[in-house]
Amino acid sequence: MNRIPVLNSGYVELVEWMGGDDAVVRNARRCWKSESKGLESDRKLLRHLLKNKHMTPFEAMVFTFDVKCPLFVARQWHRHRIGSYNEESLRYCTAERDYFIPEGLQGAQLEAWKNHNDRCFDLYEEMVGLHRMRRELARSLLPVGLYTRYYWTVNGSSLINFLVLRTDKHAQKEIQEYAWAVFKLARSTAPESFGAMEELLLPDRGF
Ligand SMILES: Cc1cc2nc3c(=O)[nH]c(=O)nc-3n(C[C@H](O)[C@H](O)[C@H](O)COP(=O)(O)OP(=O)(O)OC[C@H]3O[C@@H](n4cnc5c(N)ncnc54)[C@H](O)[C@@H]3O)c2cc1C
Repeated sequence: MNRIPVLNSGYVELVEWMGGDDAVVRNARRCWKSESKGLESDRKLLRHLLKNKHMTPFEAMVFTFDVKCPLFVARQWHRHRIGSYNEESLRYCTAERDYFIPEGLQGAQLEAWKNHNDRCFDLYEEMVGLHRMRRELARSLLPVGLYTRYYWTVNGSSLINFLVLRTDKHAQKEIQEYAWAVFKLARSTAPESFGAMEELLLPDRGF
């Protein structure tokens, strides 16, 4: 399964990837003109790279993820500059009525939450539909819990930096959920690299 649901309406999907454990090992071994002596020696090498922050061999892996997340998560995500983003534009596209609802919200609080968000969308749709306001202006009525979609293309080294920072307990819980979904998808393509990374750089973490 390449798509993992996250939060009430989001997901992360791995749409394409290149490289993998073999590519990382191949590139790293060029430094020493060495050859693989099997899985155990490759594992040792990967751990050596991670422990010594010799990260460029991990750039031999490249991933493209399709992400759907609330704007407030995207704002934090896009601080990660080493990577490429292509996001749906609210200048050119009309926003869909799709917004974040926190887990566990119930009863009157849930109703109030939905009413507030729906009122924002009601006015937005009225401005765009009835009054022909430009979408790029009307969007300022929308809440930061609005879901957005983008492709994120990132190499393995930058991805590891993202995962270390965003699975940390100091990161907001909602982006942690996305980071763990990204981690699971990346590990499915390069189990040795991300397995070693989990053990060495994400000890005692888990969602
Ligand atoms: C828990 C948490 C709380 C945060 N709180 C805030 C906050 O309150 N306010 C806020 O503004 N930000 C905040 N941030 C964002 C943080 O400062 C970083 O912008 C973000 O985590 C991206 O990390 P990065 O720069 O390592 O990643 P990338 O931008 O992907 O960069 C990767 C690496 O490339 C190198 N690099 C990239 N660009 C440059 C450059 N211009 N110069 C030198 N080296 C560069 C650095 O080594 C960097 O680590 C927070 C992040 C976390 C995880």
